[in-house]
Amino acid sequence: MPIVHLKRKIAQRIASGHPWIFANEVEKIEGSPEPGSVVDVLFHDGKFAGKGYFNAQSQIIVRLLSQDRKAVIDEDFFYNKLKECWAYRQQLGYVENCRLVFGEADGLPQLVIDKFNDYFVIQTLALGIDKWKPAIVKALQSIFSPKGIFERNDVPVRELEGLSQLKGFLSDPFDTSIIIRENGLQFHVDIENGQKTGYFLDQQDNRRAIRNIVNGAEVLGAFTYTGTFEIHAGHYGAKSVLGLDISENAVQQANRNAALNGLEKKVKFEVANAFDVLKQWGKDGRQYDVVMLDPPAFTKSRATLQKAITGYKEINLRGMKLIRPGGFLVTSSCTNLVQPDLFHQVIEMAAKDARRKIRQVVFQSQSSDHPIIWHMENTNYLKFLIVQVV
Ligand code: SAH
Repeated sequence: MPIVHLKRKIAQRIASGHPWIFANEVEKIEGSPEPGSVVDVLFHDGKFAGKGYFNAQSQIIVRLLSQDRKAVIDEDFFYNKLKECWAYRQQLGYVENCRLVFGEADGLPQLVIDKFNDYFVIQTLALGIDKWKPAIVKALQSIFSPKGIFERNDVPVRELEGLSQLKGFLSDPFDTSIIIRENGLQFHVDIENGQKTGYFLDQQDNRRAIRNIVNGAEVLGAFTYTGTFEIHAGHYGAKSVLGLDISENAVQQANRNAALNGLEKKVKFEVANAFDVLKQWGKDGRQYDVVMLDPPAFTKSRATLQKAITGYKEINLRGMKLIRPGGFLVTSSCTNLVQPDLFHQVIEMAAKDARRKIRQVVFQSQSSDHPIIWHMENTNYLKFLIVQVV
C-alpha cells in the first residue's frame, strides 16, 4: 500500500483525531497511489497516523477512515460502519427518520445518508468515498431492505474532487415524492427535487422546542421551505400562522403540507423576499407574538463571512421589530462559519439596533443524529435560539 509521510508540525492535530490531511502537510509520498485509493499515513517519526482515501486533486489530500493499523478497508468495513451508525441512532430513540451517516462525525468523511423511513438518500462528496458507493448501497440493502435508494450528488463541492454533479436511483426506480412522519405530523418530501436531500432532519428537536411559546400566538415564519416549523406551530395551538419563502415551489409544498395535516385554515404560506417584506411590515407597524427565522447560510467561505454576519444581523433586526413586547424570536443559523459565540454577538447587535432587550430561553444545536466532534468545526454548524423580546 502506498504511504503518505507527514511533516513534523501537524502531528498533534491528526493525533487528536482530526481526519483531514492537507496537501501542504505532506512531506513525501511513497509509491504512486491511484486517485481515490486507500493509503497508509505515517507521522514524521514513523508512527502510524491512520489509513484513508487519497486524492491529489483535492486540497485535502487524504481523509482518514481509520486510525487502527489493522483495519481493512473493504466491503465489510462499510457494512460494519453502517451497522454502528444505525445502532447509535436506535440507542438515541430514532425509529423512522434520521441522518444515518453524518460524514466526519461518524468516521466516514464526506458521506451523508438520510433515512426517511424505508427510503434512503445518499451523498458521496469526495472521490475516495464515491468509489465505495456500490459497497455502501449493498450494505444498506442488506441491513434495511429499503423500498428505495436515491443519490443526491448534485452538489458543487464534488467538482473540487474532480467528480461530476449527478442525481438518480441507486435501487430500482420508485416514486420519489414520499410522506414522512415527524412529531405526530406528516410532511411531503420530494427526494428528487427538494433542497439538499429533500428535508432538513437536523431541526427535528428544535421544531418541538417551540411547543409552549406558540400556543395561542400570532406567528410569522420566514425562510419556511416546506413549512415544517409553521405547521408545528399550527399543531401546537397557534392562533394564526403565516409563512414566507422566496421559492414558489417551496411555498406550494408548504401549502400542501398544511392541508395534509388539516391545518390549511390557520397555517398559510406566501411567496416573498423576507428581507423586503419584513422591512415593509416593520414600517407598517405590524405585530406578531412569535417570529421564526431559518435563513440559508448566506456564505460558503470564510472570505465572505462578513456578508453572512450582515445578513443575519439585518434579518434578525427586522424580525425583532415585528415582535410584541414579551413575544419571542425563534432564530437559526446553519453555517459552521458562524460559531455559537459569534451568532450570539450578531443577535445582540440586532437587539441593540432594534432597541429591544432580549433574554435567552432556549439555545441548542442540531439533533443528536448529527453528532458534534469537538474541534471539528464543520460538524458543529446549527445554532437554534429562542429569545424573549421585551
Ligand atoms: N425552516 C426550513 C428550512 C429553511 S431552508 C425547514 O426546517 O425545513 C432556507 C429557505 O430560505 C429556503 O427554502 C430558501 O428558498 C429560502 N430563502 C432564501 N432566501 C430567501 C429570502 N430572501 N426570502 C425568503 N426566503 C428565502
